Amino acid sequence: MSNYPFDLRSDIMYLKGVGPRKAAALNHMNIYTFYDFLMHYPRAYEDEREVTPMNKLIVDEVAIVVGHLSNISFREVRSNLKIINAILEDETDYVQVTWFNQEYLKNRLSSGMKIMVKGKVSEAFGRGDLLSITVQAFDILGENESPNLGIFPIYPSTAALNQKFFRTTMRGLLDRLPKMSEILPKYIIKEHDLIPYDDAIRTIHFPKSRQDLSEARYRLAFNELFLIQYGLMLIKKETQEEELGITHKPNGELMQMVFEALPFELTGDQQHVLEEVVQDMEKPSPMRRLIQGDVGSGKTVVAMLALVKTVENGYQGVFMAPTEILAVQHYEKFLKMLEPLGVKVGLLSAQVTRTKKKREEAYQKIANQEFDIIIGTHSLIEEGVQFKNLGLIITDEQHRFGVVQRAKLERKTELSPDILVMTATPIPRTMTLTVYGDLDVSLIKELPPGRKPIKTTVRHSAGRKQVYNFVRKELAAGRQVYVVCPLIERSESEKMQNVSSAEEIFDELSNYTFRDFNCALLHGKLKPKEKDEIMDDFRANRVNLLVSTTVVEVGVDVPNASVMVIEHADRFGLATLHQLRGRVGRGSDKSYCILISDSKSDISKARLEIMETTSDGFKLAEEDLHLRGPGQFFGEAQHGLPDLKIADIFRDVDILIKARKAAEEFIQKKNNADEVELLNDSLTVAYGDKFKQITDV
Ligand code: ADP
Ligand code: MG
Repeated sequence: MSNYPFDLRSDIMYLKGVGPRKAAALNHMNIYTFYDFLMHYPRAYEDEREVTPMNKLIVDEVAIVVGHLSNISFREVRSNLKIINAILEDETDYVQVTWFNQEYLKNRLSSGMKIMVKGKVSEAFGRGDLLSITVQAFDILGENESPNLGIFPIYPSTAALNQKFFRTTMRGLLDRLPKMSEILPKYIIKEHDLIPYDDAIRTIHFPKSRQDLSEARYRLAFNELFLIQYGLMLIKKETQEEELGITHKPNGELMQMVFEALPFELTGDQQHVLEEVVQDMEKPSPMRRLIQGDVGSGKTVVAMLALVKTVENGYQGVFMAPTEILAVQHYEKFLKMLEPLGVKVGLLSAQVTRTKKKREEAYQKIANQEFDIIIGTHSLIEEGVQFKNLGLIITDEQHRFGVVQRAKLERKTELSPDILVMTATPIPRTMTLTVYGDLDVSLIKELPPGRKPIKTTVRHSAGRKQVYNFVRKELAAGRQVYVVCPLIERSESEKMQNVSSAEEIFDELSNYTFRDFNCALLHGKLKPKEKDEIMDDFRANRVNLLVSTTVVEVGVDVPNASVMVIEHADRFGLATLHQLRGRVGRGSDKSYCILISDSKSDISKARLEIMETTSDGFKLAEEDLHLRGPGQFFGEAQHGLPDLKIADIFRDVDILIKARKAAEEFIQKKNNADEVELLNDSLTVAYGDKFKQITDV
């Protein structure tokens, strides 16, 4: 970029029309350089290409008319309602035009003047069939001048920076901007029929036609998706090439023993996925695999078998869970299953690391490989933990950790262990490709046999009595119930709103409604040990009804629980609701999910209705994304990945697939150094060292 008369990396403050005050406002929008400004794409466009003859105007539509002014009058109805009325006439008809509260125009408008007006057409009140236009925008024209028509960009803006500023400043920047050089290899441009980068950038801001705009958008979306995929694939390639992985031997006796000890047969999907994992593990290059399976699909047992495989080969295996409760749950299951077969299972979570003595002891055992399998939480990535002969790392519920933390755990070892990531968050396929572009994906779709569908209903809080009557029946039949609330306790501000807290609900249920049953309260502020005791009691059915916050959201497995009541269900995202619902329906009893909500918002109602009709987590996630837009899902905080500026993960699936294929091909084929350098530069210009950071942590 150095051959530009100005450097695109220059501080935005120095762009013509900006200055320090506007620069500060732009910084607030994450615009720091000329380049950032150029990448500030319009969010929509105004199509102002056609002047409508006045005899063709349609009521309620926005139209542009051109004509001559007459009969200008000014009225002050109240101090805050000042009206200018006039008649505007063209060759076909005349209309009334109205300006509200623009008194200063009195002196600028005059009879006989030619103007262009844009505004909404309505019937002029009490004036027969005269039409009226409420002016949104207008332009005074010279007698022989035609109106300035076109497609105009609408930029994301703030109170301090209006559309006019963006349009004028962008125009100025583009006028001075020399031709941008191409940022993708020529052969890709040709193969995918892309328009030149320079054209695309100019057109996206000021398109001449819809057709041009669509080609520019395609080009830029392709760019964006290509570069992200390329960046991710570089990471994958790096790890696979530089590090020599572990070549596991074919399954042996220990694996056979565990298979035989399993209390059930694996489902077809479980077998298939396990086979993929086993094959990866037996290859010399490190495994990088994601297992996606809806709640309750039985990912844990696949994980366990993979861990056993690494142990059988003399390595240590690590299983990282997102919460204390889950880590302990896995630990207890593994212990029961594997200890009799001589596999040593250890736990590393807050309850272990809290006291120095226990912590040191655990660290010691890990470092000496006295544990074959270590199950833990974030505690596993702490400084003092030293693994020995690490062969396999599994992270459960990956979305809680993000790419960065996974990388951190991977750095804890000299050998290159196999990596398995499991997620129950139903991520639409398009998202998986983008977010987990560096991982191979396995799917478990089928649920273990004997599961009955969970009946989901939405109830108004006025119907709570009936809900509780129903809950009583289930409790009386020996089954267990969850009641989930969004808050632990209410703050002062929340007392104003009508949201009851977990504490309040617990008080009421344990002291009155269900005082003849054992109730317990579980929330995130309890000590790990207290949480454990409560969960143990619930698992053993010493607690019949558990009031809880979303700490039970992920992975908790109590097959005897048959009812999930969710208070203020509208306060949760669909993904969370689905996870919560997945806590029931794990045994052979028919299960129920009751969503209590008084929300009057249409979107909330629509979301809860989707819960009633769909039990497919993938479908739910897509619906959820549609309802809230993809922005949040893609958040940097979650994945460490850059946000999409122009591509849309729904609309642009086709582009995504093409871009991914192109990136794959590019990485696989032998490229000349210029092309590689070009792409790496493009990646750096667009994303700085973001992709480096992901690998460097
Ligand atoms: P998730 O995929 O949500 O982690 P889990 O691994 O916790 O699911 O499995 C959910 C429940 O299903 C557990 O109680 C588990 O023991 C049981 N399960 C897993 N696989 C099978 C199977 N093939 N047949 C019967 N039950 C199974
Ligand atoms: Mg699980």
